[in-house]
Amino acid sequence: MPLIDVALPLPLFRTFSYRVPEGLTGSVTEGSRVVVPFRNRKEIGIVLGAAAPIGGVKYRDVIAAPDDAPVIDPPMLSLCRWIAEYYVTPLGVALRCALPAALTGAGSPVPSQRTRRVATIELELPSLLHRDRIFARSKQQRALYELLEQLGGRAAVDVLADQLKFSPSVLKGLVARGLVVVSEEVVSRDPFLTRERRAADSHRPSDAQRNALERLALAQPGHVALLHGITGSGKTLVYLELLRRVVLEEKRSAIVLVPEIALTPQTVDRFRAVFGDAIAVLHSGLSDGERYDAWLALRRGEKRIAVGARSAVFAPLRDLGAIVVDEEHESSYKQGDAPRYHAREVAIVRARAEGAVVVLGSATPSLESWTNAQSGKYELLSLPERAGGAQLPIVHVVDLRAERPTRKPSDHEEADAAFAMAISPPLEAALRSRLAKREQSILLLNRRGYASFIQCGACGDVAVCPNCSISLTYHRTPERLVCHYCQHTEALHRTCQRCGGQRLRQRGLGTQQVERLLAERFPSARIARMDVDTTSGKWAHTEILDRVGIGAVDILLGTQMIAKGLDFPNVTLVGVIDADVGINLPDFRASERCFQLLSQVAGRAGRGPKGGEVLIQTRAPSHHAVRCAVTHDYHAFVKEELASRRTPPYPPNVRIANVVVSGINEDATARLATRAVAWVHRLLAQHPSPGVTVIGPAPCPVERVQQRWRWHLLLKGDRPHELGRVARYLVEHFEVPHQHGLRMTLDRDPVALL
Ligand code: ADP
Ligand code: ZN
Repeated sequence: MPLIDVALPLPLFRTFSYRVPEGLTGSVTEGSRVVVPFRNRKEIGIVLGAAAPIGGVKYRDVIAAPDDAPVIDPPMLSLCRWIAEYYVTPLGVALRCALPAALTGAGSPVPSQRTRRVATIELELPSLLHRDRIFARSKQQRALYELLEQLGGRAAVDVLADQLKFSPSVLKGLVARGLVVVSEEVVSRDPFLTRERRAADSHRPSDAQRNALERLALAQPGHVALLHGITGSGKTLVYLELLRRVVLEEKRSAIVLVPEIALTPQTVDRFRAVFGDAIAVLHSGLSDGERYDAWLALRRGEKRIAVGARSAVFAPLRDLGAIVVDEEHESSYKQGDAPRYHAREVAIVRARAEGAVVVLGSATPSLESWTNAQSGKYELLSLPERAGGAQLPIVHVVDLRAERPTRKPSDHEEADAAFAMAISPPLEAALRSRLAKREQSILLLNRRGYASFIQCGACGDVAVCPNCSISLTYHRTPERLVCHYCQHTEALHRTCQRCGGQRLRQRGLGTQQVERLLAERFPSARIARMDVDTTSGKWAHTEILDRVGIGAVDILLGTQMIAKGLDFPNVTLVGVIDADVGINLPDFRASERCFQLLSQVAGRAGRGPKGGEVLIQTRAPSHHAVRCAVTHDYHAFVKEELASRRTPPYPPNVRIANVVVSGINEDATARLATRAVAWVHRLLAQHPSPGVTVIGPAPCPVERVQQRWRWHLLLKGDRPHELGRVARYLVEHFEVPHQHGLRMTLDRDPVALL
């Protein structure tokens, strides 16, 4: 009986051997799934190959082998091996991540599919004479045949039955005479397919777009290009034309990664306009079954383009010709839990192995990608101007320090003062003029809820989450305090929990409050708010954006959700209510994020012939993130930001891995972190690893999340290979005691250190 090596999705850096019983040998091959016993439960693993028996070891039997073909093909297996190695994750965990949930759930390994019966015309009857003869004694058969003809020769049996109310024998008769065949077909349940199809853009590529396309046409397999195109420069047209060549002409396949499908229905619509049903849209609204349907369609080659967020990089396409990573700088491309992969990096590794080209697109490329383009590792393609003659909007700064009222408002001025704290007079005037001209405005405030925190007027105490070291956000509808880290909610206290003080003040603005202020000030304006709280429904994002698209919204107010990808020509004003949200977070990427967000949201204005204007309210007008966003100067920003990451070095000047130690006991957590650092120091002393250093330990900037205390240490290194070796050694060999809920996680190339 053969012995096989199996990868299981467990936090253990090893594989496991099982015997294959006689009856199952046929369906056990490399890359197929097996159900195996593990301790006293069942696990689903992936077969890696044959294993060599070790004498004296008793092996357990495979329980089931549900696949008739491997679910992981050899290129996907090597991609997962790379992920496991680079991100220091067990192979089984990486493999699980590459498959749709329906294939990895412990319950039923084979998901139930919905199928339907489809009737297709087999024999065409060209002449009427023919028909009269054939259907002489069967009017019903003729009616059914002709209905099927009108429906394009092919229709679901239940649709036909609905329309004609025929008895099953009529269809049987047609089948018996060889005129029609009936087959079973898997039903796609993808609701994206029912969205109205827009017409394909028919712009002639500009010189810059044509140049980019010509360079891409010359690219060797595995080539990576960074498409740096300012907002509105027409990056999508470059993607579309590239895919037209790769998919329609060369008959190969392609993947398009977007930060989040729900936020980019317009982009998806543009792809669907050109490629129609060749596209599988993998969005978060899909059920497990729908996701599985899409996966199957991609694997069978029925769909040759996968459009989706991060995990679409694992789309089971063969003969991959191109991968597009739109908004490549977005942090949502990094997965938050194991395997903590970055989809951009995985895309590049996959493309190199499978001979595809990669296009990374952004108006504000990550510093990592920019540096790689400068060093010649990636090719730089630039779209320095807006497409179709549009101009970048003019950006004005409103210095909130100067706008602050000089005296305390009297009672009847109170409402005006509250409004002016949120919307300065210049921004109010700009909004008013847009409303008068029936043009649209977008307002960004990257803070949801009503007020950012509640503070006692007497002792200064701030209401904090009992589970996390984070202040609670005040929400008005429904009224409660909410932790934005762990979702803990509690009722609003009437008095200070610390000193019993009676005056609790709301500090800091949230979107709910601004929405109310706007509604009071502009009663006839149609205002839409878009943030996590208004978009919990499956299609909520799309509905709001579609309403903006048809002009049913005058002011769209929202968090960073509204900053991406939107292309509405009638939006002539963008207002940023508080540019400084997040600018001072203790994270090396805080400035970069702020610059990207401001640039992206500013890019929503003036996309049509009416032009546009941006007003940025800030208390830090001289901060380089704000200053460079105002002048649309990406290059100046990069120069200053790179310099600020030199001492101490941060990416891209060095590679890092963030090691977080957490536990429910504060002392035990701190002690373990301290021991881990000492351990690494000893390791580095015994086995010199050129360029690798360890920094810390220190409490994480957010010290406590969900009742767990958090400490971290940073591994830094300028040679990725050496850094990887040390990281792996630490994760595999440093012992974490089984007490106080202690845990250690490693995040390589982290996007944030909070
Ligand atoms: P980006 O993604 O770079 O911000 P988009 O791809 O959304 O820009 O394009 C911005 C707008 O310019 C879209 O409305 C698009 O239809 C239009 N556009 C793109 N290329 C051209 C072109 N060559 N000529 C005219 N308009 C164009
Ligand atoms: Zn919390």
